[in-house]
Amino acid sequence: MENVIEFFKNLPNRKCDVCGQDIVEKADCYGHVCDECDHPAR
Ligand SMILES: [Zn+2]
Repeated sequence: MENVIEFFKNLPNRKCDVCGQDIVEKADCYGHVCDECDHPAR
């Protein structure tokens, strides 16, 4: 299953759909929005 790890390593950094900044690796449940733009208070 090492191929799966390599697959994710080779992925380009994801960028926030809202502000365009790189998204730090984390769970996929947030989609393509960074923490700043995903903040519930905004
Ligand atoms: Zn953002």
